[in-house]
Amino acid sequence: MNANFQNWLHRQIEELKRQNLYKVPKILETPAGGRVRMNGKEVVNLSSNNYLGLANHPKVRQAALEAIERWGVGAGAVRWIGGTMEVHDELERRLARFKNVEAVLVFTGGFTANSGCIPAVVTEKDVIISDELNHASIIDGVRLGAAAYKKSDGYVYPHKDMEALEQILKRTQGFEKRLIITDGVFSMDGDIAPLPDIVRLAEQYDAIVYVDDAHASGVLGKNGAGTTSHFDLYGRVDIQLGTLSKALGVIGGYIAGSAKLKEWLINRGRPYLFSTAHPPMVAAALIAALDIMENDPEPMRRLWDNTRWWKSALRSEGFDTMGSETPITPVYVGDEGKAQELERALWDEGVYALSIVYPTVARGKARIRTMPSAAHTQEDLAFALEAFKRARDRIGGLG
Ligand SMILES: *Cc1c(COP(=O)(O)O)cnc(C)c1O
Repeated sequence: MNANFQNWLHRQIEELKRQNLYKVPKILETPAGGRVRMNGKEVVNLSSNNYLGLANHPKVRQAALEAIERWGVGAGAVRWIGGTMEVHDELERRLARFKNVEAVLVFTGGFTANSGCIPAVVTEKDVIISDELNHASIIDGVRLGAAAYKKSDGYVYPHKDMEALEQILKRTQGFEKRLIITDGVFSMDGDIAPLPDIVRLAEQYDAIVYVDDAHASGVLGKNGAGTTSHFDLYGRVDIQLGTLSKALGVIGGYIAGSAKLKEWLINRGRPYLFSTAHPPMVAAALIAALDIMENDPEPMRRLWDNTRWWKSALRSEGFDTMGSETPITPVYVGDEGKAQELERALWDEGVYALSIVYPTVARGKARIRTMPSAAHTQEDLAFALEAFKRARDRIGGLG
């Protein structure tokens, strides 16, 4: 082994620790759920994206087991070389119907879908215009593309600032294509993108709209069909990304749009071309998850009942949940050190909820990010609320 390399790794890791950016994953000893055992401790888990509780749903588990019996565990190849089984094809047709679009292409993850789709649809003649709070996978996807995209050149607009977006659209008319990218639901603040305004500006200035609905999938719109459905903008959003890893409870990401878009990505989406297809049980489990979403309103109703209760309970106890409008509920702390203290105190009180600090969010805007779900009972959330109050007292208050 190269000693210089090992030393370099050591120094980098020490630097991360010094900056409080060092991460150690806790280990789950039970299936995903509202109440879990982690690192030997029973806790209420408020840091899971399993919004609808589908990750361990009996019907989804059963579908995966049956798919193993029928298809085995691996697809054996990338999609276009012979890794597309009937279940993969059926999942895409089901998703297209669910999203009310012409076509859907599934990638192995949402991150992969962004890093595959964005560079495939832009060239050096184009510009990408992006909200400053967009997800890391969008930023990576943008970096892989050849299009102009830079904060310093003003192609990144302040969060949800439609005037700034319009200014950028006015001064980028020389580019061949303009691609506006936004999260549908912002992953750290839990607020919703002003999609009707973005679509209106895009139509006025002849730009393309790309919405990353990772946190809106299964959460907003008809049966959880996302922000385009929530705002009734069918047919007016060019590219929609959805994740199959969060509310749908399994793994995967997809791009929804026109049949032409799908055709192009089959030929030019590099992770689609060069990475192996999902195991068939993944596709089968996802079809079962979609069945539940389309036919059983109960998980989504419970998600939103819990979300409303949790937000108003926190607020009435004096916690600041920022501008959140969705299950993602930040509890504002401000100071980084204090947020980390609160996270540790919550853990001691039996609640797992991670602090989010700089550089994931702006300096001085540290918070604890909580996500109630359909998997939580009323008792779980009432317990978590008491834990928040005790933890706040334990660290001497938040202000
Ligand atoms: C989680 C997330 C992704 C990545 O999705 P995966 O399916 O987990 O890879 C992409 N975009 C946003 C906004 C996300 O929150």
